[in-house]
Amino acid sequence: MFDAIVVGARCAGAPTAMLLAHAGYRVLMVDRADFPSDTLSTHLIHQPGVAALARWGLLDRIRDSGCPPLNNAIYEVADVRLEGCARGVEGQRAGYAPRRTVLDAILVDGAVEAGVEFRDKCSVTDLLRDEAGRVVGVVGRYRGVPFTERAHLVIGADGMHSKVAALCDAPFTVHRPRLTCAYYAYWHDVPADLELYEAPSSWVAAVPTNDRATLVLTYFPQSRFDEVRTTNTYHAYLEQVRTTAPALHERLQGKVLAERLRGTGDQQNFFRRSHGPGWALVGDAGHHKDSITARGISDAFFQAECLVRQVSGRLGGDPGLLDAALEAYEQERDAALTPGFQATLAAAQLQQHEQRLELLRAVQTDPDLKAIYFDIVAGIEPISALYVPKLLALL
Ligand SMILES: Cc1cc2nc3c(=O)[nH]c(=O)nc-3n(C[C@H](O)[C@H](O)[C@H](O)COP(=O)(O)OP(=O)(O)OC[C@H]3O[C@@H](n4cnc5c(N)ncnc54)[C@H](O)[C@@H]3O)c2cc1C
Repeated sequence: MFDAIVVGARCAGAPTAMLLAHAGYRVLMVDRADFPSDTLSTHLIHQPGVAALARWGLLDRIRDSGCPPLNNAIYEVADVRLEGCARGVEGQRAGYAPRRTVLDAILVDGAVEAGVEFRDKCSVTDLLRDEAGRVVGVVGRYRGVPFTERAHLVIGADGMHSKVAALCDAPFTVHRPRLTCAYYAYWHDVPADLELYEAPSSWVAAVPTNDRATLVLTYFPQSRFDEVRTTNTYHAYLEQVRTTAPALHERLQGKVLAERLRGTGDQQNFFRRSHGPGWALVGDAGHHKDSITARGISDAFFQAECLVRQVSGRLGGDPGLLDAALEAYEQERDAALTPGFQATLAAAQLQQHEQRLELLRAVQTDPDLKAIYFDIVAGIEPISALYVPKLLALL
């Protein structure tokens, strides 16, 4: 009997399992993937996520992997150019973009070192329930062999297409249409800062990562997904870079892709009910949004900390108290992540508004306002934080 079984061992699952183990619980974490392994995702971690890694004692491992700190950001849109650094959070002013093979392995190691029992190549196919319908365990296959395990709480950290959510009939509480599709690739020896470029119907970014590689990513409107996917995708990707970020395109000349181009149009936007009797969801399983604002990893870390704080002291005791703690988790999650969700939906429209450009022109003239703006990009502050007297005077 475990206190908790965590299904999924990446950005949401591994920290959840690790923090539960730190709280003294007996935890099983399973993942159907073979670790370490890559996954479809770019991997810019904004400062709130970096601060979480520092709190967990894992940030030095990211640095030691050779992943460069991203402490100079450049953002260009129309005639506006902002360059600077966020004020940051908990002393963390830089973002990092470790390859998922690096990040996910560090997170799994952190969980295992905390005492979590980890099984990879282990797929959950069904849930165990008691006579009242409460979830009390999982059924699946571990390296091809059927298994059953029981726990007070089963946590689905199994991604956007969550099996746990499906088995629990977890309904969407908020569901919005897809807005973009994304394509990305790694380039060797292309020097870059953290660079963000915006144009009507387009978004391009350059993000330095491990092994002296630079991730170059492009966003298109969802309405172009079929065309971009089925015609010459590489040409469409490069054209998007050329027209939106000509100076970056220039730096790509004569360079070769380090790996194949990857992309997705499955940019869903939703909140799901995050809990029920004996089960909970963290990370993309319970809440997913367009990746354009690069918030998924930091938000998965936040949910891990939030869930563990709420359920600590409640596992293995009165089930009614556990259920109340899970309800408090959902309320805290929704309150904390809804502003970022709305900001993401606004960015994913890929539209330029003259009023916003005017605001940015004013921000451009002042280093303090630029630092606040980069805090907003990182999800540290809401957009309202910009409206300080200095900005109002400039406007
Ligand atoms: C194109 C793209 C770009 C992105 N860029 C960024 C970015 O720059 N910055 C950022 O912060 N976020 C980004 N994101 C979002 C980020 O990748 C996700 O929010 C984050 O990975 C969610 O982590 P997770 O642990 O919830 O889910 P996942 O990473 O999806 O992990 C789920 C795990 O569950 C396992 N699993 C699933 N079903 C089962 C089962 N039945 N049994 C056992 N195991 C199972 C899977 O094998 C998987 O390992 C991007 C996403 C995409 C698609």
